Amino acid sequence: MRYVSTRGRAPELGFEEAMLAGLARDGGLYVPETVPQLGPEAFAAMAGLPYEEVALRVLRPFVGDDLPEAELRDAIAQAYAAIAHTARAPMVQLAPGHFLLELFHGPTLAFKDFAMQLIGQLFSRAMQKRQDRITIVGATSGDTGSAAIEAFRGLPRTDVFILFPEGRVSEVQRRQMTTPDEANVHAIAVKGDFDDCQAQVKAMFNDHAFRDEVGLSAVNSINWARVLAQVVYYVTAAVALGAPHRAVDFTVPTGNFGDIFAGNIARRMGLPIGRLVIATNRNDILHRTFATGRHEKEGVEPTMSPSMDIQVSSNFERALFEAYGRDGGAVSQLMDELRDKGGFGVSQGAMEALRETYASGRASEEETRDTIRRIHATTGEILCPHSAVGVKVAEEHLDPARPMVTLATAHPAKFPDAVEAATGLRPGLPKRMADLYDRPERVTPVDNDLVALQDLIRERRTT
Ligand SMILES: *Cc1c(COP(=O)(O)O)cnc(C)c1O
Repeated sequence: MRYVSTRGRAPELGFEEAMLAGLARDGGLYVPETVPQLGPEAFAAMAGLPYEEVALRVLRPFVGDDLPEAELRDAIAQAYAAIAHTARAPMVQLAPGHFLLELFHGPTLAFKDFAMQLIGQLFSRAMQKRQDRITIVGATSGDTGSAAIEAFRGLPRTDVFILFPEGRVSEVQRRQMTTPDEANVHAIAVKGDFDDCQAQVKAMFNDHAFRDEVGLSAVNSINWARVLAQVVYYVTAAVALGAPHRAVDFTVPTGNFGDIFAGNIARRMGLPIGRLVIATNRNDILHRTFATGRHEKEGVEPTMSPSMDIQVSSNFERALFEAYGRDGGAVSQLMDELRDKGGFGVSQGAMEALRETYASGRASEEETRDTIRRIHATTGEILCPHSAVGVKVAEEHLDPARPMVTLATAHPAKFPDAVEAATGLRPGLPKRMADLYDRPERVTPVDNDLVALQDLIRERRTT
């Protein structure tokens, strides 16, 4: 299996190389040269299988010969043993024809665990094979950093350094990053804000000598392997609802477009998905794009669903690449325009292609709060604010011809204030992490200074 860049001017790579590279050298994102097909019999045969077995069948053709099947099987088993529900991605019914896919039973209570847990295993195995080691560095405003730390803690040949803005992440988020006691985990509290953290990570990647010296790598949301891992739960959910004999719609609370793009890959593999509905909060660049045909940056406004508070949606580039008939030159031009002028118009043909697969909607803060309250009152299910945005938008897109699945992307206990404001109930942490507040914390405060951060990374790396 070969991977090509959305901007058409980077070398084609195999699965493992594309995963280790993250961003392509021409600034583009890697996508598979062709999407492997699974026939109706293959999907039918998945009914009732364990999540791990479906994962193996879905992922194997994308990984190709880069990992022997037994190793891939083992990586999947290790990755998903961390998810505290035997179904891994269980589904509950909210209303006739409307289902909720719970993706929040992982160690950091958000769907990012599904991709991150697997990527940790795959990176560690790739380093073993190459007799090499890797230093993962990332900046976080909370969720991604904790998922990365949980995924890489204790894995051989890896170190993970996560920079977060001191005093500006929630207590649960901070403790999830500072309480793992493995030597290869390094939580760094930077005296600055999230943008400072991100700028420092960027500066480290641009310092090529340093990058090579410590084997720097990133696991951000544009990494193809992260997108790929998320294809699996679209398959398990659709098969549970009758695919391949019945088509299913999905609504996805969306920020960087990684999760919903995984649904598009499932669809192109042959899974009968009717529509993929993009749900945004008031940071609605994607919804506006579908409404107007113009993709235009605006400032970010904070909401109660912070993981969707984005100004640009980085993985949307992958959808544009498909919509423009895989024309890397055209995508490059659009991305230059976005950088230089803050927006671009999508051609009519590309807009038509996008609308064949995707629909969109948005939820205001008031609608989100009201949905949390109403769904709790009518079903007993407690939604996190991100999932509530999804449910509200899904309700506007129900089609009697097909069941709708809304992705529940985080556990309500991760956002207790918003949930309490809506329902009057304060959701508690699951039992397995009830002692989070008692565990000792380990964190290194560092000035917002590149040299100080680089020295720290050199010094702290495990052998
Ligand atoms: C990251 C995240 C999202 C957005 O997912 P994308 O793949 O960036 O579109 C939605 N909800 C939660 C809880 C998240 O952590």
